Amino acid sequence: MKSTVYITRKLPDEIINKLSQYFHVRMWKEENIPVPREILLKEIENIEGLICLLTDKIDEEVIRKAKQLKIISNLAVGYNNIDVQAAAKKEIIVTNTPGVLTETTADLTFALLMAAARRLVNASDSVRNGEWGAWSLMQHTGQDIFGATLGIIGLGRIGEALVKRANGFDMNVLYYNRTRKLEKEQELGIHYSELKDLLQQSDYVCLMLPYSPDVHHLIGKEELSLMKQSAILINTARGGIVDEEALYEALRNGDIWAAGLDVFEQEPIPMDHPLLSLSNVVTLPHIGSASVKTRMRMAHLAADNVVKVLYGGDAPITPVYQCVKV
Ligand code: NAP
Repeated sequence: MKSTVYITRKLPDEIINKLSQYFHVRMWKEENIPVPREILLKEIENIEGLICLLTDKIDEEVIRKAKQLKIISNLAVGYNNIDVQAAAKKEIIVTNTPGVLTETTADLTFALLMAAARRLVNASDSVRNGEWGAWSLMQHTGQDIFGATLGIIGLGRIGEALVKRANGFDMNVLYYNRTRKLEKEQELGIHYSELKDLLQQSDYVCLMLPYSPDVHHLIGKEELSLMKQSAILINTARGGIVDEEALYEALRNGDIWAAGLDVFEQEPIPMDHPLLSLSNVVTLPHIGSASVKTRMRMAHLAADNVVKVLYGGDAPITPVYQCVKV
């Protein structure tokens, strides 16, 4: 008897064909619209495998409805959209896609840093809008990157990949992490710093840690007030880590210089969100891992986790750490 796998968004044929060799595959066929909650709640009842995206809230209610679900395969490395404890209680395996997106996300994070530092979006817009005018000394002036101090909060896979890019720009790198990594300090030439010191000393603060309720609004009014007036905050981790109201105030009042944001508390960000009214913010639509090759690698890994567990009866390739039952 073939198991049934439900996919919450249209995926490329290559992935569907792979899964169809082993399973009955059902799929929400829209590419840009998330599966409506009522459909997800219905579909979950009679499937063995679920492949979902970070936009799908797989909470206790969804998990409770599942009668024969064995694996939730998240097509992302962050898995704060899934109630892992609720899944573990029902012995449902949860997997994510770590590693395959590390370099691509580090590339984007550094690109965002550079765009915010050198005001690339404003400068580009001015050309298109016919506002170039005569060359003038202080027009579109930004902040230097070469030789500046980068503070990374969350030195995991992507944080580490970011250090390699920063080293090419001769940056002094500070990091703050839940666990101090002495070996990495030697290997990468970086320095551990308490959060407060990192915020005070850095020219660029990059958030690279996973979201959990423990780090909700980790960067709020007080933390922003510690940063230099010339500093730039980059967030490619998760929106909930930053108090957006406090960030708006800090940017508007010139308490910090700029921000580069790929992630927001609500995605898509509402069009009337105050942050969108500021010219010193670069906003992106959560595209950290968005290269063709990487997105395909992520989709293959998500599919392979399901094949391993449901077809092979094996352990998943990349389980989320809390869920140990196979
Ligand atoms: P990772 O390898 O698990 O690294 C996360 C690091 O954060 C670990 O070193 C961890 O410390 C540290 N950390 C966890 N909680 C912390 C806390 N409360 N305070 C300080 N440090 C803490 O993950 P990754 O692959 O680098 O990915 C990081 C995050 O980036 C993901 O969770 C995801 O949310 C985000 N992301 C976004 C995009 C995008 O498209 N924008 C793409 C990929 C990833 P320990 O060493 O103690 O565990």
